[in-house]
Amino acid sequence: MERFDVVVVGARLAGCAVAAPLARAGRRVLVLDRMRFPSDQLSTHVLLPSGTGELAKLGALPRILALDPTRVTHVQVVADGVSCRERMRPTPEGIDFGVCVPRDLQDVELVAAAREQGAEVRERCAVEGLLWRAGRVCGVRYRDPDGREHEAAATLVVGADGRRSTVAAHVGSWRPYRVSRNGRGLVFRYLDDPRMGTPEATTYIQWREGDGIAFAFPTTPAGRLLVLLMGHRDEVADARRDPEGYWRRKLAEHPGLAERVAGAPQGSKLRSTGETPAFFRASSGPGWALAGDAGHFKDPVTGQGMRDALWAGRTLAEHVLAVLDDPEAVDLATRAWEAARDAECLPAYHFANSDTRVESPSPIMREVVRDAGRTEEPDLGDLFGRARDPHEIVPPARIARALASALRRGEIPRREVLRRALDEGRTAIRAERERRAAAFRAPGPIRGSDHPGAVWPAPPASRARDEERVEAAA
Ligand SMILES: Cc1cc2nc3c(=O)[nH]c(=O)nc-3n(C[C@H](O)[C@H](O)[C@H](O)COP(=O)(O)OP(=O)(O)OC[C@H]3O[C@@H](n4cnc5c(N)ncnc54)[C@H](O)[C@@H]3O)c2cc1C
Repeated sequence: MERFDVVVVGARLAGCAVAAPLARAGRRVLVLDRMRFPSDQLSTHVLLPSGTGELAKLGALPRILALDPTRVTHVQVVADGVSCRERMRPTPEGIDFGVCVPRDLQDVELVAAAREQGAEVRERCAVEGLLWRAGRVCGVRYRDPDGREHEAAATLVVGADGRRSTVAAHVGSWRPYRVSRNGRGLVFRYLDDPRMGTPEATTYIQWREGDGIAFAFPTTPAGRLLVLLMGHRDEVADARRDPEGYWRRKLAEHPGLAERVAGAPQGSKLRSTGETPAFFRASSGPGWALAGDAGHFKDPVTGQGMRDALWAGRTLAEHVLAVLDDPEAVDLATRAWEAARDAECLPAYHFANSDTRVESPSPIMREVVRDAGRTEEPDLGDLFGRARDPHEIVPPARIARALASALRRGEIPRREVLRRALDEGRTAIRAERERRAAAFRAPGPIRGSDHPGAVWPAPPASRARDEERVEAAA
């Protein structure tokens, strides 16, 4: 049997981000993916500067820049007619732009970067089971492209294998301990950008009008534009039934978007998805860890998943690197890493939960957008760029000022302003209490944030058996 320090299942964001630094440090790392790259993935693939920074840390940024992506330097938010446009805040390393690279182009470069740094990446190899010794995961069983079965032993097995994680199923972590149903669906298409050479061609724009949100992201290669529509999840069926009718209706709902794409030739086919529940899975245990979507997912409305998958992979590597020769220390390190991941991701999870509510922009938000619009300095974009946590960007004093302005302005009925302010304030206080308590695997739900009603699929039969076995052993 081959022996590695770490076996990683999944070779995209989280998988390459955990493999590259370990391999660079001289560890033996095997990465297995059932796909052959280049390989597409349903995603709108937006990265803001902190995500671009993660690509740099992975060692993949030069390869990504060679694909000629637009360097997106500004973010604009339009909330029911009120607008702010600002520069993106640079990362501590000085990266001040986002990129948006289709996954078939992007992920193959991550794989190449991980290989360059010494990781052994095997494509078209599907992991089918785990190896156990004395209650500890000690390797994987996988099938190669010729259908032959192999085993690979490791001190640590990382499931970086996405939302339908095989590793999660086999360690008994298939069912998340926290799930929130998302209210919005996603419908998107690519277009030739009719505004090349203008400031808009380097600006990521969101239009929040009525209860819908529309986005325009300059993408790759430069000159292409990605447009994403996020209305109620039930609208996805309409988009599939009558794509062009749906598109026309959405342009009418978002006049700013209609103007942005005016003159663009017919775009690509519409792609869509309706059910994207947010969740946290138990993500560490004896000999195993779950990084990226395998362990945690949140509504794509905030475009954070890839950044968080890269962050999770890199920080997992940092936690275990020094202790890889000591299995007990590895298990303590993965548990500490899981706690750090939750601290990093819970604020963004709650923010995404609030954005996935299908309702009009809150009066408070409109006032904050108005306030941010006074200058082009980085401010509200930090919400999407993850430069600061939401409670730092919109602290209580700013909320109070926004409330006073909304009441003074009188554009929205006073009762409605107060109702929304009260709802949002209470939810924010509950989330802040949860953050301060820093409980391991905080179960939620937080009223006003976690949404009920998510249906979780059963694991495939063989996984169910494995799950029972693990539960019985526990
Ligand atoms: C519609 C949509 C839009 C999104 N838009 C954005 C966005 O704009 N910005 C953003 O940052 N995020 C976005 N996300 C989220 C983002 O796509 C994910 O967070 C990201 O792909 C997670 O990366 P990952 O490496 O954890 O997992 P994945 O990208 O899911 O990769 C998992 C890999 O594991 C492999 N694998 C699975 N099982 C096995 C097995 N048994 N054996 C071997 N290999 C296996 C798969 O083949 C796959 O290659 C979006 C998500 C969706 C659904």
